[in-house]
Formats: sequence, C-alpha cells, structure tokens
Amino acid sequence: MRNTTQSDQLFARAKELLPGGVNSPVRAFKSVGGDPFFAKRAYGAMIEDVDGNAYIDYVGSWGPMIAGHAHPQVLQAVSETIADGLSFGTPNPLEVTMAEEITRLVPSCEVVRMVNSGTEATLSAIRLARGATGRSKIVKFSGCYHGHGDSFLVKAGSGVLTLGLPNSPGVPAALSELTLTLDYNDFDQAQELFDEYGDDIAAVIIEPVVGNANCILPKPGYHQHLRDLCTKHDALLIFDEVMTGFRVSLGGAQELFGITPDLSTFGKIIGGGMPVGAYGGRRDLMKQIAPAGPIYQAGTLSGNPVAMAAGLATLKLIQRPGFHSELLDKTNYLCDGLEQAAKDANIAFHTTRVPAMFGLYFREGPVESFADALQSDAARYGRFFHVMLDQGVFLAPSAFEAAFMSIEHSKDLLDQTIAAARAAFASLQ
Ligand code: PLP
Repeated sequence: MRNTTQSDQLFARAKELLPGGVNSPVRAFKSVGGDPFFAKRAYGAMIEDVDGNAYIDYVGSWGPMIAGHAHPQVLQAVSETIADGLSFGTPNPLEVTMAEEITRLVPSCEVVRMVNSGTEATLSAIRLARGATGRSKIVKFSGCYHGHGDSFLVKAGSGVLTLGLPNSPGVPAALSELTLTLDYNDFDQAQELFDEYGDDIAAVIIEPVVGNANCILPKPGYHQHLRDLCTKHDALLIFDEVMTGFRVSLGGAQELFGITPDLSTFGKIIGGGMPVGAYGGRRDLMKQIAPAGPIYQAGTLSGNPVAMAAGLATLKLIQRPGFHSELLDKTNYLCDGLEQAAKDANIAFHTTRVPAMFGLYFREGPVESFADALQSDAARYGRFFHVMLDQGVFLAPSAFEAAFMSIEHSKDLLDQTIAAARAAFASLQ
C-alpha cells in the first residue's frame, strides 16, 4: 500500500478550511471514494505527492500540460518574464504576440480577448452573443460543461455531473429558463428545437468533443448540421475549445472537423499551466466588446505577462512538426493496449479517442451520446481507479472526465500503464 501519511494530514487540515477540503470539486475524489493526494512536484509525464509517491499522470492539470510538466523551455520563459515584474495593469507586448499566435493558428478568430479562466471566456462569449443578436436564449448540450457561470449550470457535465448536481442551487430559475438543452449527436432534436425557438436563440455553445462527460465524439456531419441551423436562424455557433483547443489538432477541433464557428473559447494550453482563458471570433462581433464597442467585459489580470509567457512557450513547443500525430499514436497505442487487457480479462470496457484525449468506459461500445456515457459502470471505474493509483497511475478521479496524454508519455510509461491495467482488470473479476 502507498504511504499517504502527509497527504492525509493535509487533507484533514484542508477540510476544516476549504469547502470539501479543495478549491475545485472533482479534486476531492468524491465519486471514486477515498482521499486525494497532495502534489509536491510534477515533471514530464509524472506527478509526485508529498509522501514521495510518483504517478504516471493522465490528468495533466486537467489539460494544460500537453508538453509535459515543468518543461525547461516553459520554465525558462516564465523565469525570464517574472524578473521584470508580475503584472502591470497596462498593455504588454506578450499579449499582442499571444493574440497573433491564436489568430494565426485558429483562423475563425480574427480578434481575440484574453481573460483568466475558461469560465470567464464562456461567460463573456455568451454575453457577446446575446448583445450582438439582441436575443436571450442560449442552447447547450446535456453533459457539456462550460465552466461555472450561472447560464451553464443546467444539465452540466464535469464536477456537477460527478457530484449529481446538474442544476445548481443558487442559479435563478429566470436565468436557467433561458438555457435550452439538447442531446449531443441527436440531429432531429436540434432541428426541432430550432423549428420552435430559432428566432429567439442567441447562440449554440458546444464542446466539439465532449470531454466533460468522459469523451464523446461527434457523429459525422453533426457539427455541420448545427452550423447550418445557426446560419439559417442567424444564431451564433460557439465552439468551447477550452479543452480541445490546440490539443486535438493545432487549430483545435474546428480544424479537425472542418467547421467555422462564429466565436470560440479557449483556456488551459494557452496558459501553459498558468491561469488563463480567451475568447475570439469574427471581427464584426468582437469589435462590439468594450472599449471598441458597448458590450462590457474586463479583467485586472487579463493578459498577464507571466501567463502569456508560459502559454507562448507551450504554443511554440506544440508547433513542432509531427507533434499532434505523435500524440495520436500514443493515444491509440495506450487505448488499444487497455482494450486488449480488458478483453483478456473478460471485462466490458470501451475507449473513445481523439489526439491527446480519450475516454475510458466500463461498458461495451459504441458510446455516441450522453445517455451512452452515463451507462458506464462508475462504481467499477472507481475500483479500477484505485488499483491503478496504488500501482502509480493517476487517472481522472471521476468516471465522467476525459483523460489526457502529453508528449512526454514515453512508450515505456504507456507499457507500464497497460501492465498496471492488466492487474487492475484482473482484480475486478
Ligand atoms: N469549458 C470547458 C470545455 C472546460 O473543460 C472547462 C474546464 O474544465 C471550462 C470551460 C472552464 O474552464 P476553467 O476551469 O478554466 O474556468
């Protein structure tokens, strides 16, 4: 058994002072049971806890660490930047470079605004959509998570799903009534919703690959169907690429699936591990944001130079030729190995994948909808999670979160993970 003495002591202190002992709900291990470990350091594909246990990390700080933890070039960029001060509250050159990078890599983003989290990005994007269209309703998908803004806590994924709180208390009913929900990948339902409410819909916001209800891929043509409905009804299509951006392809899911959204939201990778978010899109829309236009949005630390430096260094690393195809190879290698190990142990198990992001389901495939994802055996996942953790593999502490691959996950580490999974599957029999 792992020694967890120091993590346990810290968690006991934390529970007195922080809600549930954590600053973000899924970290508390509620859905998988047991107590979390407290991290001391992370390097490459590894994370180490305060008791000295090292784990192969498939959480990757929930997405940002695609180039691996503590990458020397990212750390160097950060240390060079902090030597000149941490925050200025004036424009700084790195923000301009970041905007140039994002708009070059994601052509649908002609103009971009930096914020401090994915939540801020999505909140701001729907305010813009409502302001620009003069309409109030937004459409989201059951199981999709767009941060903790009031309008999104309706049939949401991620921690709200994990904890069984899809409609959070504290959100005024008058506001949640403006959020219409659809089942992901249901073509007819989207058509019917637009037939009824089309002229009242400001925007459809979607995770182009649903990473907050495990990992659900779009059916061929689904995003184009949404694009066509939005165009026909003058509603905006918002791709929430906080998770998929710069991950599933250099130009994000919109590049992978060949779709042009009106607005996009980002976070995670563009901060390289520092707090960050961004939203961007068509110039005619973005120029309605203050001070260019009347729709207000601001931020004390937005465009922070240290966050920009970490993000820019990360964006540079991921532009190495072959970076994303290498990530896809690694993802396929691991998922194929896990599926084979489960098959050998006679366990119902299925994986879904896109480059650098994958889902683990304790059920037979295919998984094409939120309802399919919910049928995964979450209790079994919890047992699997703990046997893996005891063998030095850190998976998401929830059956409803995608797993992440970094470029630092070597073949040796992937083989170790598959070997650990063989033992874990055997223990489930
Ligand atoms: N959108 C998506 C798709 C996310 O996955 C997340 C967080 O995981 C968010 C928005 C919210 O981002 P943040 O946690 O930075 O506020």
